Amino acid sequence: MTAKEEIIKNLTVLTNNSCTSKISFIYYDILRECEIEFPADSWALARSKGYTFDQVLQNTNERTFNLLLWILRYDFDETNHAIFIQKIVLSSLWRPSNNGTSPHEDGRGLDIIKIKPNIGKEIVCASSTPSEPGFLVKIRTAAFQNKLANQYFSPWIMYYYNKEGKLIEEANRGITENERIHLTHVHFTIGK
Ligand SMILES: [Zn+2]
Repeated sequence: MTAKEEIIKNLTVLTNNSCTSKISFIYYDILRECEIEFPADSWALARSKGYTFDQVLQNTNERTFNLLLWILRYDFDETNHAIFIQKIVLSSLWRPSNNGTSPHEDGRGLDIIKIKPNIGKEIVCASSTPSEPGFLVKIRTAAFQNKLANQYFSPWIMYYYNKEGKLIEEANRGITENERIHLTHVHFTIGK
């Protein structure tokens, strides 16, 4: 079963339109089960246009789910394999066409608002968190090295390939529209 199929199979849509799912895998002989949450807001536009949440997942690119699974499997402790992400809260996957420029419109965007590692506090992916958490630095650097994503916009850092193919890493100053949009979540673009 692919990550996409497993997430769709385990989907629960609650009466308030928020949704949950889970994905499990064996990592170093331990069965790990990760929770994925989709608040009602995360698919409000699709809902207003008559789509079900199942269709939102169906319209999301397979490789977006592969990146999500890869993030959940990420090993933050190569010695003891004891630090990992237990729960992730997403704020957008596929979105119906609005202006035709967002990678979400063909299912290649992954927006994250919270990450809960098995140790320590929940990480809020918004400018209320003063600097980029080490968990996210590791994930985005490794995701680019493994060519799983080619843009990462966050409340702290804008990390992307420019038109010349050069990898850029600059602070989110909260000035441009793209910078302002990403003060509230972490966005990954999956390449075409
Ligand atoms: Zn996004």
